[in-house]
Amino acid sequence: MKEACGVFAIYAPGEDVAHKTFDGIFALQHRGQESAGMAVADGEMITVVKDTGLVASVFDDRTLHGLSGSLAIGHTRYSTAGSMDWTSAQPVYRTVGSIGFALAHNGNLTNTEGLAERVGSLPGIGLTDSDMLAELIARSFQGSEQSDRALRDALQTALPLIEGAFSLTLLDADHVYGVRDPHGFRPLCLGRFGSEEHPTGWALASESPALDVIGATFVREVEPGELVTIGKDGVSSERYVDEGVIAPHLCIFEFVYFARPDSTLRGREVHGARRRMGELLAAQAPVEADMVMGVPDSGVPAAEGFALASGTVYGQGLVKNRYIGRTFINPDQDARDKNVRRKLNPLRENIKGKRLVVVDDSIVRGTTTRALVRMLRDAGAKEVHLRISSPPFQWPCFYGIDTPTRTELLAANNTLEEITAYLGCDTLAYISLENLVSAIGFTDGFCDACLTGNYPTNVLLEMPKMRPATVDEPADLQPALPGV
Ligand code: AMP
Repeated sequence: MKEACGVFAIYAPGEDVAHKTFDGIFALQHRGQESAGMAVADGEMITVVKDTGLVASVFDDRTLHGLSGSLAIGHTRYSTAGSMDWTSAQPVYRTVGSIGFALAHNGNLTNTEGLAERVGSLPGIGLTDSDMLAELIARSFQGSEQSDRALRDALQTALPLIEGAFSLTLLDADHVYGVRDPHGFRPLCLGRFGSEEHPTGWALASESPALDVIGATFVREVEPGELVTIGKDGVSSERYVDEGVIAPHLCIFEFVYFARPDSTLRGREVHGARRRMGELLAAQAPVEADMVMGVPDSGVPAAEGFALASGTVYGQGLVKNRYIGRTFINPDQDARDKNVRRKLNPLRENIKGKRLVVVDDSIVRGTTTRALVRMLRDAGAKEVHLRISSPPFQWPCFYGIDTPTRTELLAANNTLEEITAYLGCDTLAYISLENLVSAIGFTDGFCDACLTGNYPTNVLLEMPKMRPATVDEPADLQPALPGV
């Protein structure tokens, strides 16, 4: 099962931590819309509330008022096909002796088979990566259950055994913890309440806007391989693996699509990186046009950059229904097609008779993009030139972005000409990897496996997502091509 999400934690005695956690995970809603939850502790008791649905539908004022304490963690879970059930909502809760702890996970483990052998079968528990993780941690308590350090020691034992992507927040009765895997695939940052000299509380969040909304000041990112403990004595930090194991590989797709544009990752605001992607794309694949437009919302910053660098007028060609979530992963094709129309509607007067440059962040299956091109043409566009601010998406992700199998990845199975014909656009260009990296401003420390197939950890070629296209593939799993 896949786990890709937003995580949050707060330690702030005297504050309304439940409402702050609500605000924090609400700001991380884009990272997961399937379920939402929080665990609140008051020094003795831990209360967990979680359910399927959006943050604002799971929590209301009454529920939040009932949750008092000094510390909390929160979670939003990413929508994945066929797993819309309550049992996979987080935080996950466990007890060991008299100690209870809760865990929230963003990422995807790659050695779950080995871990499953270690933890054995768990009656009554659905074995998601996060369940397995919690179980492994529970089994790593070493008889020191009364100690203040019990969970921290258990984490030191359990974490080195896990491979893959995991940014975690955890809580026991009186501490919150933050963990990033040794590759740092998924982001996690630390924020502070109060001044540097007199901090009054701390918070951890997948992305910095979650700190902004709760009035915390961004302090720093949690480092790959770092375990942060926050309690009455403040923040302490330790490494849970040898230095040699640490190899930073922040997901490049966080910059391309996943993170909010107002997030700061590795010291850079994501919006600026996306705008530069558009600027470099304009230089790399110029085209004569009347208007540059972005596909809302993800294509807009790069479109801004494209227009700026090419000197072409920027305009809006599509209106997005702002009450819609991310509709990309939907089990059936028909539903996905309808979702596009539900989500986007053309501004006919603005595009009629025009040669358009249409900028979007990525093409995965091509379903959305194809429907979009058709929509623009039906609305009177004279030419549609697609410009994509990421290189061809050819490899499935095993580190927390929910992608389809290789069979369904359009660029894994077709040439540029075939893709152009399938999408029905006049021209198509993807940004080069070199330009993408240059737009972000760092030359190393990224995971670009979805674009290059270079996976930083062992992934098995026979993993279900790796299936290449085969002739006897059921028709609905084949990337549909013109005339098929
Ligand atoms: P499609 O043309 O159907 O491949 O859809 C591509 C669009 O889906 C992109 O423009 C993104 O906005 C969005 N997208 C890309 N990757 C993901 C993902 N992993 N989860 C949700 N949406 C995504």
